[in-house]
Amino acid sequence: MSIEVKNLFKYYGSQAAVKDVSFNVGNGEIVGFLGPNGAGKSTTMKIITGYINASGGSVKVCGKDVTVDTLDTRRLIGYLPENNPLYLDMYVKEYLTFVGKIYRVPNLKERVKEMIQKVGLEIEQNKKIGQLSKGYRQRVGLAQAIIHDPEVLILDEPTSGLDPNQLADIRNLIKSIGKEKTVMLSTHIMQEVEAICDRVVIINRGEIVADDTAKDLQLEGSVQTVFVEFEGSISRNQLKKIPGVGRVEQMGEGWLLESSEDMDLRKSVAQFAQQNDLLAVTLRKEEKSLEEVFKQLTKS
Ligand code: ADP
Repeated sequence: MSIEVKNLFKYYGSQAAVKDVSFNVGNGEIVGFLGPNGAGKSTTMKIITGYINASGGSVKVCGKDVTVDTLDTRRLIGYLPENNPLYLDMYVKEYLTFVGKIYRVPNLKERVKEMIQKVGLEIEQNKKIGQLSKGYRQRVGLAQAIIHDPEVLILDEPTSGLDPNQLADIRNLIKSIGKEKTVMLSTHIMQEVEAICDRVVIINRGEIVADDTAKDLQLEGSVQTVFVEFEGSISRNQLKKIPGVGRVEQMGEGWLLESSEDMDLRKSVAQFAQQNDLLAVTLRKEEKSLEEVFKQLTKS
């Protein structure tokens, strides 16, 4: 296991920012850490990287406790903090060399060259960081995070503030880096998880509210929806009388029926059709969008 977080707590004064958080990230996984602003994502990530201490609980990275094997775990982790703090007056190569020296990276000159190639910084490599666009600054941030060849990458909101082209480039870069490393990235954008991650851990108000693959999350939840189309006309009131049906919404030629409890409505709709001598030409379970699942899980 690459990351093991167990019963983690963090208090800022009397405010509990992280409450009994536990989850694991397996080797080679790309996991999305999703939650609204203020949910506790950065706090959790700072504890994993050893930047701040927890108030309770434990974190292991590749089997090592981050509060005991501090130096070892720092070598195992590459970290891109929120807002990517960089030295704007430094040149790209100068900065990467500076970071590499801190980690005592061998053959540093070669390694810096390799990193510049890996993150696609060739054409901007002779500029000062302050002269770079936000997208290229993120590339520098990613290069500094992987220069010491860590096993685990922790990326805090790596795509925030990027334009759509930069966003696509950085997502692709993370995906390609993720082929060789374990990655945990935080975001408040659902599509990001769908685009990059194998699994999603959702945090809300300091507590984990979901830990699943994106696909399985869509199938869970207390409300299920079916789409049905009948041959011939039918009224909303008739549909409302079907056992288990809650909300009814017309959609084109058909109807969206929401269950009032956690049940698959297809059976009762099929029975209803049979009893009323109606032909259901379409009857299918609708997958909820991840956006809806997220909203449902994190509403206050
Ligand atoms: P997220 O990254 O999900 O936006 P954070 O981990 O930054 O959430 O914040 C979680 C909660 O902890 C928020 O209510 C925030 O205001 C609070 N918090 C974060 N850092 C500090 C700090 N250094 N001092 C006091 N409160 C903090």
